Amino acid sequence: MEETYRRTPLFLADRFFRMTIAILIFITWCNAPLLAVDPSNDKARACRDNLKMMRDAVEKYMKNERSDLPTWSKFDDMYTMFLTNKYLPQKPVLPTSDCRYFFVMKSHDVYDWYCDLHGVLTGDERVTFRYHEFQFTGLINSKYLEISKYREHAENLRRWIRYSPTLVENIKFNYTQNPTTTLIFVLLGLGFVIFVLKNVFGP
Ligand SMILES: [Zn+2]
Repeated sequence: MEETYRRTPLFLADRFFRMTIAILIFITWCNAPLLAVDPSNDKARACRDNLKMMRDAVEKYMKNERSDLPTWSKFDDMYTMFLTNKYLPQKPVLPTSDCRYFFVMKSHDVYDWYCDLHGVLTGDERVTFRYHEFQFTGLINSKYLEISKYREHAENLRRWIRYSPTLVENIKFNYTQNPTTTLIFVLLGLGFVIFVLKNVFGP
C-alpha cells in the first residue's frame, strides 16, 4: 500500500506542495529588505539625471558663448564641438544599452536633450512600454515635432509599445512588482508541468 502511494502523482504533488511552501518562506524572508527597490524606476531616474546634467551644461554654454547650436545633434558631436569638458566635466553613464542622447533645439530658449528610450525631460505625450524586464515611460514633446530628425526618433520611441517581453523577462518584471505572487505562480506553473509530464510519460 505504502509503495503504491509513493509512485502516484498524488504523492509527488504533496511533496511538491511542501517544497513550494518551504522555498516561498525562504525566498520571501531573504528578499524582504529588497522589496522597495524597483529597477525600472532606478534606471529611468538615472537617465533623467543624465538629461538634466546635460541641459545644465547647455544652459551654461548659452550664457557664455555666442555661437549658435544646431537644431538636432548627436551627443558626441555636441560634446566635441560645443560643450567639451569645460561645460560637461563628466560624460553621462548610459543606464541601458539603448539609451542614446541627442540635443534638440527649437529656439534659443526652447531646447532639450532626448534619449532614444526615455524621450525628453518635459513632454506632452507619454509612451509607456516594456523594455526587457523593465517598464519605462518615454516623453514626447510636440513642440519639436517640426524638426524632422526629432519626428523620426519620436516615431521610433512609439514603436517600443510593440515590444513583447520573453517569458523570463516577464517573470523578472513581475517579480520586481510583486515577488510573492510571482513566485507562487512560477512554482504552481512548474508543479503543473511536472504533474502533466509525470502523467503523460510516467509509468
Ligand atoms: Zn534613457
